[in-house]
Amino acid sequence: MKLYNLKEKSEQVNFSQAIKLGLGKKQGLFFPTKLPIINDTLLSEMLSMNFITRSSKILSLFIGDEIPEQQIQQSVQNAFHCSIPKIQYVQNNIACFELFHGPTLAFKDFGARFMAQILSYLNHKNEVITILTATSGDTGAAVAHAFYNMQNVRVIILYPKGKISEYQEKLFCTLGKNITTIAIEGSFDDCQTLVKQAFNDTELKKERGLNSANSINISRLLAQICYYFEAFSLISKQQRKNLIISIPCGNFGNLTAGLLAKSIGLPIKSFIAATNANDTVPKFLETGIWKPNKTISTLSNAMDISQPNNWPRVEEIFRINNWDLKSLGFGSVSDNITIQTLQNLDNLGYISEPHAAIAYKLLSEKIKDNEFGLFLGTAHPAKFKQSVENILKKTITLPQSLSKRINLPLLSHNMKPNFHKLRQFLLKK
Ligand SMILES: *Cc1c(COP(=O)(O)O)cnc(C)c1O
Repeated sequence: MKLYNLKEKSEQVNFSQAIKLGLGKKQGLFFPTKLPIINDTLLSEMLSMNFITRSSKILSLFIGDEIPEQQIQQSVQNAFHCSIPKIQYVQNNIACFELFHGPTLAFKDFGARFMAQILSYLNHKNEVITILTATSGDTGAAVAHAFYNMQNVRVIILYPKGKISEYQEKLFCTLGKNITTIAIEGSFDDCQTLVKQAFNDTELKKERGLNSANSINISRLLAQICYYFEAFSLISKQQRKNLIISIPCGNFGNLTAGLLAKSIGLPIKSFIAATNANDTVPKFLETGIWKPNKTISTLSNAMDISQPNNWPRVEEIFRINNWDLKSLGFGSVSDNITIQTLQNLDNLGYISEPHAAIAYKLLSEKIKDNEFGLFLGTAHPAKFKQSVENILKKTITLPQSLSKRINLPLLSHNMKPNFHKLRQFLLKK
């Protein structure tokens, strides 16, 4: 598999380089030079396969002979077997596609676990790797658990102090061993900036064998393509004809993966990019002006991002397919409306959480009579127990993966958003 740098097209790398580098020169994102094509015959064959087999097939089509198919199958098995997605109907024509049944109760388990499996396979020489990543909540947990106890891998995770839920924090800041967590006194964008600075520091990067596991890493995106095919396999032939998928967006990785699924032959009719009050993209789609405002804290904190990293990939996908950006649905939803929507969903018999509720809200507004809509359930409601309980006046029971960590002490360090401090910390570690 060959990939090019979106900011410097002459820079080309293979899949293993792209995984290890994360970003290319000038902090450019990598993008496949050629996308596989799944024709109708292959598609119907693939839709009858189980999730693991089909996912291995999709990933092999992308990765090619760089990694043996059998190895990919093993990695997919290890990464996905505990996270099989489910569909829950909310109305006749609308269902939630739940991606939160994995070890850290969010869709990020798919990408993070696949990446960890592939990195460890590629690390033949057993070099020490440092994973440095920024999280707005769920990436941290997924990455920490995916790499926990792996030999020769150190994980350092930055998150905005006080801006992620208590339960999110408990999931990954209590692990210890090869996992170090740093609470940054700032926003997620500050954390992301620090990570970018570290990757620009050639000496530091080399000295520490730095790797980012952010959603900019192509291996994570490829893994996420697989569950769109699973969604398709779980709905009826009639529903497949006019399928709209509404996605709660932060860094726009999930949307990128969905658009890639469509690009290679999965006939999804259209997508809705749903954001909270951090509405850089909805404003851009409306006015053509890219003007990120200061990040605002909202109930859907994993989407509190005003400079979404993956947007250049979204534009590239529209460009190469000759699709019109105007065909992308979009909207932003305030906290007040999110609260009302959670209550509406509860009245329909479905307990959700703020991220998915935003996607549902826009879907229910935009869906037409002949269409079938899925909104992505990106996290388990228990991860946002306090806000969901306050809103619904109900008790949410904790799944075991959370309840067993809730009484453990937090092991995080505190730090100002200062690159010099972070650099010193990384060099000492
Ligand atoms: C990360 C996350 C999102 C945003 O996903 P992107 O791929 O960054 O757009 C949405 N919801 C939840 C619960 C998340 O953890």
